[in-house]
Amino acid sequence: MLNAYFLDENKQNSKKLIGKAGQKLLNLKSLDLNVRDGFILQQYTSNDLAGLKNAIFKLEQKTKTKFGGKSNPLVLSIKGDSASGIRGLGCCDGIGLNDEIVNKTNTQEVKVGYLRLIKFYAENVCGYDEKKYKIRKNFDLDEQIEKFKNKFKKSSGREFPQDVWEVLNDVLCACVASNSSDRLKLTRELYGINENESFSIIVQQSVLGCNVLKGCANSRALNQVLRCKKYKNIQIFNLDNVAQLSSEISEKLSKILKKLEKNEKNAVKVDFFVKKSKIYVDDFNVINANKNDKIKIIYSLAIDKIVSKTQAVMMIDDKIISPLLHPQLDFVKGLTNREIAQGLPVSPGAACGRLCLSVDEAKRVLKKGMGAILVCLDTSPEELEELKKINGLLAARGGMTSHASVVARGMGVPCIVGCSSLKIDQDLHEISIGGKILKEGVYISIDGESGKVFDKEFKISPPSISFELDQILSWADNISRLKVLANADNKKDALTALEFGAKGIGLCRTEHMFFDKDRIKYMREMILASGLEDRKRALGKILPFQQGDFENLFTVMKDYSVTIRLLDPPLHEFLPRDEVSIKELAKDMDISLEELKEKIVVLKEFNPMMGHRGLRLAITYPEIAKMQTEAIIKAAINVNKKLGCRVQPEIMIPLTCDVKEFEYVKNIVDEKAREIMRRENMKLKYKVGSMIELPRACLTADKIAEKAEFFSFGTNDLSQMTFGMSRDDSGKFLDEYYSKGILEKNPFKVLDEKGVGKLIKIACEKGKGARENLKIGVCGEQGGDPNSIKFFNKLDIDYVSCSPFRVPMARVSTAQARIIELNLVKN
Ligand code: PEP
Ligand code: MG
Repeated sequence: MLNAYFLDENKQNSKKLIGKAGQKLLNLKSLDLNVRDGFILQQYTSNDLAGLKNAIFKLEQKTKTKFGGKSNPLVLSIKGDSASGIRGLGCCDGIGLNDEIVNKTNTQEVKVGYLRLIKFYAENVCGYDEKKYKIRKNFDLDEQIEKFKNKFKKSSGREFPQDVWEVLNDVLCACVASNSSDRLKLTRELYGINENESFSIIVQQSVLGCNVLKGCANSRALNQVLRCKKYKNIQIFNLDNVAQLSSEISEKLSKILKKLEKNEKNAVKVDFFVKKSKIYVDDFNVINANKNDKIKIIYSLAIDKIVSKTQAVMMIDDKIISPLLHPQLDFVKGLTNREIAQGLPVSPGAACGRLCLSVDEAKRVLKKGMGAILVCLDTSPEELEELKKINGLLAARGGMTSHASVVARGMGVPCIVGCSSLKIDQDLHEISIGGKILKEGVYISIDGESGKVFDKEFKISPPSISFELDQILSWADNISRLKVLANADNKKDALTALEFGAKGIGLCRTEHMFFDKDRIKYMREMILASGLEDRKRALGKILPFQQGDFENLFTVMKDYSVTIRLLDPPLHEFLPRDEVSIKELAKDMDISLEELKEKIVVLKEFNPMMGHRGLRLAITYPEIAKMQTEAIIKAAINVNKKLGCRVQPEIMIPLTCDVKEFEYVKNIVDEKAREIMRRENMKLKYKVGSMIELPRACLTADKIAEKAEFFSFGTNDLSQMTFGMSRDDSGKFLDEYYSKGILEKNPFKVLDEKGVGKLIKIACEKGKGARENLKIGVCGEQGGDPNSIKFFNKLDIDYVSCSPFRVPMARVSTAQARIIELNLVKN
């Protein structure tokens, strides 16, 4: 028995079986909006013809028309529908037309409708060649109808059916068959849609021949959504005649848009038609605006109280925010096909410039005032200083948390790594990428947001935090519990962090300061020193630089907290790797090449990440920690004196695994700090805390908290050490882990809650148990990840700290986490 659900009967129990388009029509009905009369079928076979006739009879009565009737004919449109919205055949209009009715009605519109019906029937019911049925504009319609019918006869050996019931039955059967076509099966598979999702058919009275005015209206004017200009900016597209839209209709349309916005809690686009001063809504969709418009739309929806401010915050996601904070490629239409490769997008923003295969070449290009994109296998820390100046970085190797990625993100340099199709030939000064050969010096563009590489120069549009985004971010701040701090090592990054709303610096990686070309030589002097006195002398030369850096940071951040980490990486990272630089250094240091090479060999480690680094450096070379402490304390005292603020530096000891080693280094720091305060005759409040980035530190956190005044989870190392997986090397095999279903996400990007998260939870509980007012933060990459933030929000953690460019999204994410936790938005 055929069940036909009439749109105006709104049977609740049938709802779950009705597809996406059907649901939208029922929604419109439930809002008391006019939609074309019709019904929904959930199945159909030729055996259902009798049931179908009953449904059509009912529709004829509702519409006061007659299916196949010469006067007042009922014309139908039919389309398939499904839960996902995917359907096999498009909409078939004009069902119910035949030669006789078309001749009698004799309007252009009906003739076009008839042409479309023949085309649809020939192509989709009979499967004839699409190219044969091309509707041509400005051609005589009667002639075209004749041509189509002749073609149909030639292919089928019969006349185009004049029995409207036969056509209706055939189209319905084709519609049902298309649901199980190979193409649709493949599409479902591609989008991960259940192959057994519900399927239905919508049968509605057609608008054909009704002498109507059709249109499409946006509830918000795009590009210029202005405060309080409520609903005045209705944009009308596709209107046959805008002048026909009387003020009465315009007002009705405004009300419809408002109703739908309220229902959808979003800006909508509505397809409508006007018939005898009545507006009918055919379809509606949430507006898919560009990122800038999206922010403006969300803001204006909140101002107009269509959504609450909390809901507005929930509507923001990384895809909307991130590109706005970075330069973007201005695609010229049609040129997006210049994409040549794709890598891992690790630092957002777009860059154009000349392809440079060495830092030296990049420097040369930059000197000439042109943009430079450094293309390399991977980067070395010693190149850091130069990397700051380049426009973009493209590396063949690397992952999310490898050196190039972390550095580029921190500096806001657009960067793509792990671009596996990239091969570099330094001898020929060229690269092979995505099947193309590009010579050094040609222009390329990279998009660090999508990971795409283009062999074309695009214009770049600058980043901006608009008024509307700024407002939404301040709403988010009012909701959040977790504070958002930034990882910043220099004045520029600190200023960016402040501009993006960071409430302090959660991690200053001091080693980055040593790579500056004026200092690296003193650092190397220190490493190569033959004894303690020599080492101290070299450190004495670095001290004023460090102190200056810290003064800059404290001056920018004023009363906000600044957490400075003592030297962390193994010392060999500061020595050159290539033969030429090694020779140069030997000459500069006035030592023999052999001696230098021997030192490099001595410092070489099999597992540097587990080697002589972190606080182990301070234990073997306490003078380094002393110099850094002196620089921090002196800088804080100076800034407090000069600006009258109350800088309270937080000195952070990296890679603690046992309280005794932490205590040992803390004593060095405290002793030095006391000495400086005595010398300067000035008291200063400061804290000494521990990074928690080793599993053992988590498990013994109660002991560490007895001595440490704060904890900061270094989730990069903690993930690396917990998984026993190098963050620099895992890029090589992680893809296999995803494709084989072993891991779902990159644990260096999204916190692994089950393992690493469990350790963090234990450490928080143990830490707070031992010291009630222990300040706890997260400063690894996951601190800026929206999903990980949801997890951190559940723990007794005070702040997250991330790269300056991730701060705005982190502010939104901390608010969203709180909204979810407190169930502030109920749907
Ligand atoms: C960490 O390990 O999470 C961290 C912030 O330190 P780094 O990345 O500098 O090792
Ligand atoms: Mg670390």
